[in-house]
Amino acid sequence: MSARVLVVDDVLPNVKLLAAKLTREYFDVITASSGPEALDRIRDHQPDIVLLDVMMPGMDGFEVCERIRSDPAIMHIPVVMVTALSDAADRVRGLEAGADDFLTKPVNDVALFARVRSLVRLKMMMDEWRLRESTSGQLGVLVSTDSVQTQSAEGARILVVEDSAIDRDKIGETLARDRSSVVALESCGAALERAQQEEFELIIVSLTLLREDGLRLCSQLRSHERTRQAPVLLLADEADMDRVAKGLELGANDYLIKPIDRNELLARARTQVRRKRYQDRLRANYEQSLSLALTDSLTGLFNRRYLSAHLPRLLDRGRENAKPVAALLFDIDHFKLVNDSYGHAIGDEVLKEVAGRAGRNLRNFDLVARLGGEEFVVVMPDTDLTQALVVAERLRSRISDEGFKVGAPVGEIGVSISIGVAVAEAGPDGHVETGESLLRRADVALYQAKRSGRNKVVADVAGAA
Ligand code: GH3
Ligand code: MG
Ligand code: MG
Repeated sequence: MSARVLVVDDVLPNVKLLAAKLTREYFDVITASSGPEALDRIRDHQPDIVLLDVMMPGMDGFEVCERIRSDPAIMHIPVVMVTALSDAADRVRGLEAGADDFLTKPVNDVALFARVRSLVRLKMMMDEWRLRESTSGQLGVLVSTDSVQTQSAEGARILVVEDSAIDRDKIGETLARDRSSVVALESCGAALERAQQEEFELIIVSLTLLREDGLRLCSQLRSHERTRQAPVLLLADEADMDRVAKGLELGANDYLIKPIDRNELLARARTQVRRKRYQDRLRANYEQSLSLALTDSLTGLFNRRYLSAHLPRLLDRGRENAKPVAALLFDIDHFKLVNDSYGHAIGDEVLKEVAGRAGRNLRNFDLVARLGGEEFVVVMPDTDLTQALVVAERLRSRISDEGFKVGAPVGEIGVSISIGVAVAEAGPDGHVETGESLLRRADVALYQAKRSGRNKVVADVAGAA
């Protein structure tokens, strides 16, 4: 995994040492020797990660970090504070300034590469989501101005696996400060089972369990669908850095060295919860914008774009299973008159009600789409002509038999639809007609229905086997 790393330190030998270590591991290294220079370099080079010295004359590391976090163009870049002080208060201050992590000097190689790799991996995933979000933005939907830092870390659901009662209590009490709801368990098996049943926003796994290996649990959590995305925070002894490194390789997100410092635990837990919430949000926005791109906003039905993509698949599957696929194309009769007489808003209400009645009278795996205007299509897998005619006739009568209640002052109006039906039979040679051809035949039938007086169902039998 290659990535661009910016090393910032006012002491040249420190810069050289870190740069040499990283270059040896094939990272692309750039450097800066002061806070202002670092900010310039970040804006110019957009590094994947920043290793930032805390103690620098003029602008110190905390201030640089705060400035990074308040500039939308660079706020997403991970920052690791590098400090000579092993004072926990300092680390917490760094995390609160928006640092993602910290390393103490002299820098331990395992910790350095573990932190850098895991943060770069995280950034790449975040970049991917941000890209998708910006594509959605270009389609004219939903651009969020959110970031990791703007997420709340309160009230998180956290699972803890720890067999030391003292540590369990300490963790529970500490996390309660953020009103988190904590489930603390002693064994990996119980934890794995619980994590399949409910969604946790953070899973804290002890690597000092007496009878079990927390690393195995990490790997299991990563391989189960339900917990694949859950952040994992490891608890380990100082002497166990090799296993920590292994855990981070297995996909754990962060670690904490015992004895547990309450403030550090809180800060690390908050960081993980915030990241998780931000990631979930990006995903939800993406899914929502995707659904906006594929559905019609007035009726909530699928749109033409979705139909074009999905109809060929339904036809392919029909061919594979040797089952017919039916299409009903329908159009509201004299709809222009509704608009002209009662206005466009009432016309819209009628469109929604037609869509609603159609949806309620079909199986939930039938596809209903609005092609545009007052024209709709229903595609029914595994449906022959006789069945399709029954469904079409039922749909026609459900629309015309009962008046449409619309807004005052109109009250109630009569609406009818005309329907053209066509069925794609799976031929003996495995051939099946295209979606365009099927819809064209349904359209011919619809035209006949209109010509023969409207409020009618007509089938195109030309292509039927
Ligand atoms: P026919 O029975 O032959 O289908 O006659 P019609 O009046 O329904 O057909 P025509 O195609 O002449 O008119 C369709 C009308 O649908 C014209 C257009 O203004 C209206 N329309 C299209 N989209 C919308 C919409 O989203 N909302 C509303 N209220 N009207 C729409
Ligand atoms: Mg310094
Ligand atoms: Mg019409």
